[in-house]
Amino acid sequence: MLTIGAHMSIAKGIDKAAENTVKMKANTMQIFSRNPRGSTYKVYSDREIEKFQTIRRENAFGPILAHAPYTMNLASNREKVYEFACTVLREDVARMDALGIENMVFHPGSHTGIGTKAGIQNIIAGLNQAITGEEQITVLLETMSGKGTEIGVRFEELKEIREGTLHPERIGICLDTCHVFAAGYDIVNDLDGVLEEFDKILGLKLLRAIHLNDSMMPFASHKDRHAALGAGEIGFPALLRVLEHPALRNLPFYLETPFDDEGHAAEIQLLREEIE
Ligand code: FE
Ligand code: FE
Ligand code: ZN
Repeated sequence: MLTIGAHMSIAKGIDKAAENTVKMKANTMQIFSRNPRGSTYKVYSDREIEKFQTIRRENAFGPILAHAPYTMNLASNREKVYEFACTVLREDVARMDALGIENMVFHPGSHTGIGTKAGIQNIIAGLNQAITGEEQITVLLETMSGKGTEIGVRFEELKEIREGTLHPERIGICLDTCHVFAAGYDIVNDLDGVLEEFDKILGLKLLRAIHLNDSMMPFASHKDRHAALGAGEIGFPALLRVLEHPALRNLPFYLETPFDDEGHAAEIQLLREEIE
């Protein structure tokens, strides 16, 4: 069975996000681990948590994905920026783990001039202070488009980060179709080849989640602009091949397309009609 959901707002509570997921006929969801543009987070009440847990259990949700805020940069050499990123990652890994959320994804970071090697060392140290090895949650590194000085544009970089940490067994990968396409991995004409390369470098067993997005920007453009499924440069047939690929079909898929819940519900329905 297809496990699919969308990025959901938690502005009205994590229970409300789960409730809206059910209304959309989705069976998983992605949420921000805290305010995506600020630094704050809301403490969930016991009642809200209980309701959230009941909804996901009764509706047999697949793995839920928490997304760290965009404002954190674990590759940074600027002390305040780096300290903030370390604190957010440490707190949110613990907070999301306590909720029984299966995976938490973050953008590895941008080196902003210090170089990829130094940036990767900062990311590794940041992960080491956040992951105790005792948690159940898996921390996912997201594949990036390579805009600016972004790290994580090549599978080799993600491998280097993961293998440098003290607890690589707690680290997996989230593949974003828009980002890998913009990074120069040709998932339109050679999906098998891209997955073979992923398997050779990282191992397909590390792949835990797919962000299913079309790309407004062309192949290898190193620009990160999500488009609705079929409205971008990847196109609907190629995205459908991702969804149906034997190596990927059992993974959870999350839409980050430029829509509200209603638009995401329509995309999910369309995908289900195509494959079921
Ligand atoms: Fe992301
Ligand atoms: Fe993404
Ligand atoms: Zn993106």
